[in-house]
Amino acid sequence: MLATAAKITLAALLSITATGAVLAQSSGAPPAKVTAATPAPKLVVVIAVDQFSADLFAEYRSHFTGGLARLASGVVFPAGYQSHAATETCPGHSTILTGNHPAHTGIIANNYFDLSVSRDDKRVYCAEDETVAGTTSGSGKYAPSVNHLLVPTLGDLMKAANPKAQVVSVAGKDRAAIMMGGHKADELMWLVPTGLTGYRGTTLSPTAQQAGTAIAAAIAQPRPAATLPADCASHDIAIPLDKGGSVGTGRFQRDGGDFRRFMASPEADGAVLAAGAALRQARGLGEGDTTDLLILGLSATDYVGHSTGTEGSEMCMQMLALDRELGDFFARLDATGIDYVVALTADHGGHDLPERNRQNAWPAAERVDKALDPDAMGKAVAEKLGLPQPLLYSDGPFGDMYLSKALTPPQRKAAMTELLARYRAHPQVEAVVTGEELAKYPISKRSPDVWNLMDKLRASYNPQRSGDFLVVLKPRVTPIPESGMGYVATHGSVWDYDRRVPILFWRKGLTGFEQPNAVMTVDILPTLASVIGVPLDAGKIDGRCLDLLSGPESSCR
Ligand SMILES: [Zn+2]
Repeated sequence: MLATAAKITLAALLSITATGAVLAQSSGAPPAKVTAATPAPKLVVVIAVDQFSADLFAEYRSHFTGGLARLASGVVFPAGYQSHAATETCPGHSTILTGNHPAHTGIIANNYFDLSVSRDDKRVYCAEDETVAGTTSGSGKYAPSVNHLLVPTLGDLMKAANPKAQVVSVAGKDRAAIMMGGHKADELMWLVPTGLTGYRGTTLSPTAQQAGTAIAAAIAQPRPAATLPADCASHDIAIPLDKGGSVGTGRFQRDGGDFRRFMASPEADGAVLAAGAALRQARGLGEGDTTDLLILGLSATDYVGHSTGTEGSEMCMQMLALDRELGDFFARLDATGIDYVVALTADHGGHDLPERNRQNAWPAAERVDKALDPDAMGKAVAEKLGLPQPLLYSDGPFGDMYLSKALTPPQRKAAMTELLARYRAHPQVEAVVTGEELAKYPISKRSPDVWNLMDKLRASYNPQRSGDFLVVLKPRVTPIPESGMGYVATHGSVWDYDRRVPILFWRKGLTGFEQPNAVMTVDILPTLASVIGVPLDAGKIDGRCLDLLSGPESSCR
């Protein structure tokens, strides 16, 4: 039922544009076999699937028959790494098309703290302009912006090399569209309850507006329960939650207008892919003299993971639907006759909820102790030492911790000593590291599978934005104190279940191969830049070009 409904939505959206396929041109048609002498493809399609861990790719790989099966037959790096410590959405997306670790992109977390800003909570969202009057970092209350991204993206470099190159970025989340789209995208948009939107003060193109209207109509419709595919039957087990309710047996039914459930279902990815296909056609991406770039951020997998975990019926259905939606999208592209290359990866991995992990042979999985809440911790230390409050600023029980600027140097030293001792004494804490230590530590040049804790933390450390100290939780401590409907599992840790993501490349005529050794998402930019002949200053990036040609030839220039 879900498959049919999703396809109707996609078809309805696509019918808003002309249906004629582009005639295959001798200059732009796909080659029979890609060699080092093959001209650059006319279109680069970059897809980030939010929270698509290497574990999910491995678990469902043999079940894929659509778009993900096609990509799995291309050049496959099953051990890709978002190598840094803060495995969150904004930092992860910032690495994919910049070739840089968050230490250099400046996107150290989804939210960081700038104690010099006037807003009371001092919290800054990664993809906002906090200097816009009247804004706060809260949902829907900030001005979306790319200002915090300190380095150029692939699209920016393509436009610098050839101003005629077109760049379009569409995603479920603003931070995904923005961090991959970069500073100079021609069109950049994301999903909202009213369909699609872009930066404040900008107007969407007529095609984007039409797509947005169709998406809004789809959101307004109620959605009946989908049928459980036979492949997902073994996942269909209810897991009770702390605050009532259960997860594991969902079917994606929702009321009309329920945007939250729309986003946590395959419908959201279908909408982004449909909008992307419509924009490609309207702008003629891939049909001109130069190479164009289409960026797609598929967010549903992440919302499914957060609200229901990674091993229930919900994620199984999402994986199969994603495979099918991608297959439909690629079939549309094939019909145009354009020579296109695809790169697909994820912004971070993920981890199942502890309640199901405990049932499935991991009895030690647990939720974080409420005593590690930074407000509680800061209050206790301030009261003990007689210091002004608030003392400690942080987005949660781990990661970057910032001390109040209202402290004298001796007060600051005393607070730091007490806080470090308390965090280090807690049984759920793996390590506490100061910003001072990280500033002196070099960025690792080693393979990301052998990085130690300091290597990971350093790749996330930016001296202007990172905390005074950083707290690392032990593996399999879920940093959500209680499970409730809508939020049961997460990512963000330094551990490999959150760092490992697949990195997949596909182009018609490109001979596939598998490279199981570790590579990084920061390698994607130099790899694609080389394929399309965009010059790069290797000294300004952390990644390296991956040679996509098996045998002695190389795609790296
Ligand atoms: Zn994410």
